[in-house]
Amino acid sequence: MGFPVSYYCPHCGAVVELERDGYLADKSVTPYPLEGWEYADPGEEFEDAEGVHFVCGESDAAEVTWTDVVSDADDVENPGLESPCGRDFYLSFVKYENGREVDGTPESDYVVIGGQGPASPRGPNPGPRGPGYF
Ligand SMILES: [Zn+2]
Repeated sequence: MGFPVSYYCPHCGAVVELERDGYLADKSVTPYPLEGWEYADPGEEFEDAEGVHFVCGESDAAEVTWTDVVSDADDVENPGLESPCGRDFYLSFVKYENGREVDGTPESDYVVIGGQGPASPRGPNPGPRGPGYF
């Protein structure tokens, strides 16, 4: 027996409830799969996988309930997007290797949060937010 946990689509904010076992720990919900994670669809034995692949508004399984709620969280990419948006997103469970938590990196490195990139010449730093680009 599982219990419902709510997630929201990172593209449009559509809220989905997934019924799942409580022992799984969530790592993140991302618009792209994490490198090295294996994903299952909600109708599959996703508890044996390392994450769940959703299609916003379309994934259909007994464990999945699409609510009419749209999250207004700050990290929703396109709050104005029609919701549900039909795009893919990925729920990743925490996984461990040799007793240590594996730190997943998105397959596409579309987000690089400063700090530890490959060594690059120390150029002028444009600062956290450059001039607006209209
Ligand atoms: Zn969506």
